[in-house]
Amino acid sequence: MDLHTTSKTPVTLLGLGDMGTALARSWLAAGHPLTVWNRTPRKAAPLAAEGARTVATPAEAVASAQGPVVLCLLDDASVGETLDGAGLSGKDLVNLTTSTPAEAQRRAHWAEERGARFLDGGIMAVPPMIGRPETGGYVFYSGDPDLFARHRAALEVPAGATFVGEDPGHAALHDIALLSAMTGMFAGITHAFALMSPEKDVDRARFAALLAGWLGAMSTATHGVAAQLESGDYTEGVTSNLAMMAAANDSFLATAGDQGVDPRLLTPFMELMRRRVAQGHGDEGLAGLVDLLRSA
Ligand code: NDP
Repeated sequence: MDLHTTSKTPVTLLGLGDMGTALARSWLAAGHPLTVWNRTPRKAAPLAAEGARTVATPAEAVASAQGPVVLCLLDDASVGETLDGAGLSGKDLVNLTTSTPAEAQRRAHWAEERGARFLDGGIMAVPPMIGRPETGGYVFYSGDPDLFARHRAALEVPAGATFVGEDPGHAALHDIALLSAMTGMFAGITHAFALMSPEKDVDRARFAALLAGWLGAMSTATHGVAAQLESGDYTEGVTSNLAMMAAANDSFLATAGDQGVDPRLLTPFMELMRRRVAQGHGDEGLAGLVDLLRSA
């Protein structure tokens, strides 16, 4: 595509793995001039056939960039390796490579030392969700707010864009917080199916639907925890107090034993509840457990 025949921001993309390729296709489909590079050049060939301009080196890609330089590589080390020797001064880097918050902060500093502007991103989507807004996928961004504002329209093409602050580590922190919560949910799902699995007369698909509905309804507990942490009153709005929940844990453990299920996915959280109740906070909701975790 001729860079001068469209008003769409030209995008430069380094990294054509599963995610990078999905990002590339969304920008091409939306008419953005796209320059791509990948360490293994053959992965760029189908995109070249679809209209992308390919270059031989990351340095060449960065040098010719007239818009955001998006990185979607395996990890932070591969970002350093790829950009080593590229002239970054005056460039707009948007790093969609999964990093820890500390890596993102160091990378932002590294980029600024080289004269580049920097935005970090955490992708809350899998490749089939990219370029399909109806799937609800989005990307957390943090770092340079002006860079985000300038390239927002292009960044919103693959998925929604949610800016979460100027600290470049915040996108990664949000990403990891959500995925950590998901890990807890997956642990709960695993335990629930283990409880049900000896029962031959239980329809698994029906149970799955019941479980999904229940988890969805309970997920609104997030708002109560936020309100309690904000006000400092951990009894605010409590409808199911910790003492009641901790007492019910005995039934959960007895049932796990009866069904032959190892309770290891539940017991650490139950122990936290027990400690908070023992400290005299049985009338609270979940917010006090946050303090316990932080003081561990
Ligand atoms: P892939 O494993 O499919 O691709 C990895 C990419 O990184 C390839 O382009 C690979 O190049 C490149 N790469 C790896 N090491 C180096 C290196 N040392 N130097 C240069 N290039 C390197 O991963 P994805 O595309 O799926 O993921 C990319 C990023 O997106 C990751 O950070 C991932 O966590 C994140 N992400 C992915 C999601 C997913 O569901 N796929 C979801 C959310 C985030 P080559 O082709 O030469 O091997």
